[in-house]
Amino acid sequence: MEKNNKSLLHLSWETAFFWEGCPLCFLVQKSLRSYMENILYESVNDPSLRKEIREKGGFCEEHSLQLFSFNDLLGISIIYEDIIKNYTLPNLRKKIIANNISCIFCEKEKEYERLYILALEEVLRNKDSFELWKENAYDFCQPHKELIKNTAPNLYKKIEPFLNTKKRKYPEYIYKAFPWDRDFAELFLKKLQMMRYNKIK
Ligand SMILES: [Zn+2]
Ligand SMILES: [Zn+2]
Repeated sequence: MEKNNKSLLHLSWETAFFWEGCPLCFLVQKSLRSYMENILYESVNDPSLRKEIREKGGFCEEHSLQLFSFNDLLGISIIYEDIIKNYTLPNLRKKIIANNISCIFCEKEKEYERLYILALEEVLRNKDSFELWKENAYDFCQPHKELIKNTAPNLYKKIEPFLNTKKRKYPEYIYKAFPWDRDFAELFLKKLQMMRYNKIK
């Protein structure tokens, strides 16, 4: 199949097969990272989004920490000022310590996981892509293996026989906050380009 016939999702998966770690963690965290970036830099003043965040009681602990790994203190302050003024304090006046109810980033993460898993089923129907996965990709982390098994049982059946031969990395999910940042991402993509370049030569 020609490269330009492949969907964007397909190409993203083929990139992820070269990631030194769970390829699904790579894709999901990469997308979540741009979603967060987008909220901080573009949508922080969007009243409907702020209302949603406020009504859900802010973010879960993991994603709050992840937000602080961006160096955009202005965007973060605007969001938190809103949560504290309009959610935390009014609740405290009623003597309620209000916790996070639901986190938009957790919701988004689940959406991305589903999207990528269903796309992978399609991607691995392509013979070349399947070979690429078999040869290069690292094993999935345990939580993602479970998720694939539940979301796409047929896909799991297809990949399971190869999983125990796959390389594994100390699982990223143990750290909770994934070490993904711009520099790290760029380094990886450069490395990938070099590998492809050397193959052509
Ligand atoms: Zn994973
Ligand atoms: Zn969360």
